[in-house]
Amino acid sequence: MKTKITTLEEARAYRYCAWAGMPKGSPYCEGFCCEEVTETGRGGLYHQCRSKNGHGPAGLYCKRHDPAVVEKREAATRERQNKKWDAEMLKAKLGYHGPVLLAFVKDCAAAGDAKAVKLIADLDL
Ligand SMILES: [Zn+2]
Repeated sequence: MKTKITTLEEARAYRYCAWAGMPKGSPYCEGFCCEEVTETGRGGLYHQCRSKNGHGPAGLYCKRHDPAVVEKREAATRERQNKKWDAEMLKAKLGYHGPVLLAFVKDCAAAGDAKAVKLIADLDL
């Protein structure tokens, strides 16, 4: 489904599962979620979600496909992935710049910086 359906008229005008072998597809079935979903194990055929509606714009979506809920879920996934990515980048940066950082900390320790001395001892460097 390219654009989100937000009105009952749009849902009624939409054709589910339209493809070369069935160009007209299937009509919207009222009372059920208007989201178009894939059938698992059926070669990527799309059909209307079989859950009861009552959520989201005009109450056309089920709880799971309510666009606000979907957006929230996707935002949470993005945030989780970004955090993971940031952690991996930091790890890579520390690995790459480790020798320079270690030399810096050792210089600080040699100059009498107590924090640097403690850090070297704590990390057993
Ligand atoms: Zn649904």
